[in-house]
Amino acid sequence: MEAKLAVIRGDGIGPDIVEQALLVLKKIEEKFGHTFHCQDVLAGGCAIDAVGHCLPQETIDVCKAADAVLLGAVGGWKWDTLPGDQRPERALLGLRKELGLFANLRPAMIFEALADASPLKAEILAGGLDLLVVRELTGGIYFGERGTRDTPMGPAAYDVEQYAEGEVRRIAKVAFDMAMKRNKHVTSVDKANVLDSSRLWRRVVSEVAKDYPDVTLDHLYVDNAAMQLVRNPRQFDVLVTSNIFGDILSDEASQITGSIGMLPSASLAQGNFGMYEPIHGSAPDIAGQDKANPTATILSVAMMLRYTFGLGAEADAIEDAVKKVLAKGLRTPDLFTGEGTLVGTAEMGRQIAAAI
Ligand code: NAD
Repeated sequence: MEAKLAVIRGDGIGPDIVEQALLVLKKIEEKFGHTFHCQDVLAGGCAIDAVGHCLPQETIDVCKAADAVLLGAVGGWKWDTLPGDQRPERALLGLRKELGLFANLRPAMIFEALADASPLKAEILAGGLDLLVVRELTGGIYFGERGTRDTPMGPAAYDVEQYAEGEVRRIAKVAFDMAMKRNKHVTSVDKANVLDSSRLWRRVVSEVAKDYPDVTLDHLYVDNAAMQLVRNPRQFDVLVTSNIFGDILSDEASQITGSIGMLPSASLAQGNFGMYEPIHGSAPDIAGQDKANPTATILSVAMMLRYTFGLGAEADAIEDAVKKVLAKGLRTPDLFTGEGTLVGTAEMGRQIAAAI
């Protein structure tokens, strides 16, 4: 296969970890006979420094012309004093909007070799953890009407949570399609006991479920879902929810695994296009020091191969290589607990590539 990739290395550890992810991709190209034409583009703080804007038009154009986007991370101390609408992180919102990335997929899985890293008791996680949070990414309160007005209690500010049936239907379909490839169980999370927008959400998700008779659907209120995630996370397969609830629950789910440097994510548009990135940020405290764990970005490449390019065997090869390297005891500083072999970013990437 031949395909075009837009590569955004970004800021902080972004360039360090993307370098390793591309090394692993190179190995996949060699082993499976594919060619990925990669084009580097700027976004985030480095783009502000270079051209005065966190998301240059050229970046948007190159991303739109590509089959997928691989992103490291953006942001850092250097730009922290800029006003909100000029900060590097605005590039992420811009990319989501410009590229129509409405579905955010965040797996939370525990690698056997790292089970001790979880803050949860071993008996809660006995047998491992493998769940997927599907978050709606371009609607809801983060994109709704907002403003200020005077009230008898003083000046007030408001943000509106609104979902159209079509927005709910398309994210529900993504969740059910994912469940069909996994354990055929969807849990839809809302606050239908209080919110009209959640009642609409629940009705539409239930309608979509009729097209997937093999998938079991449950509904949970968001407060209960937050509790169940730490009480018994193994009950979940696919969780589907709104933008704001997904923002919070996906962070909670990722913390259960205890290793922020291990978790990938995908943001998908209609069709096969997607943007792939680690869930963590640009970690300016360890940037350029060969200390960052590149695994989350490497696993993001695996998600890209699986979801955008339909290359399941290639994705499996990367995930197996990660497991092998962890089983051998190799650990970047974030995973190192005194046992095993401490390695840096570059060595971790090299070892994973070599294990493919
Ligand atoms: P962060 O995820 O960058 O870092 C949190 C902690 O985790 C730090 O101690 C960091 O050293 C560590 N860490 C993160 N990734 C790691 C890795 N791969 N290997 C080892 N350790 C790792 O979050 P933060 O400190 O809140 O944010 C730093 C900057 O990143 C901010 O400017 C923030 O806005 C930005 N950010 C960007 C994204 C993105 O680009 N998608 C996401 C979140 C935060």
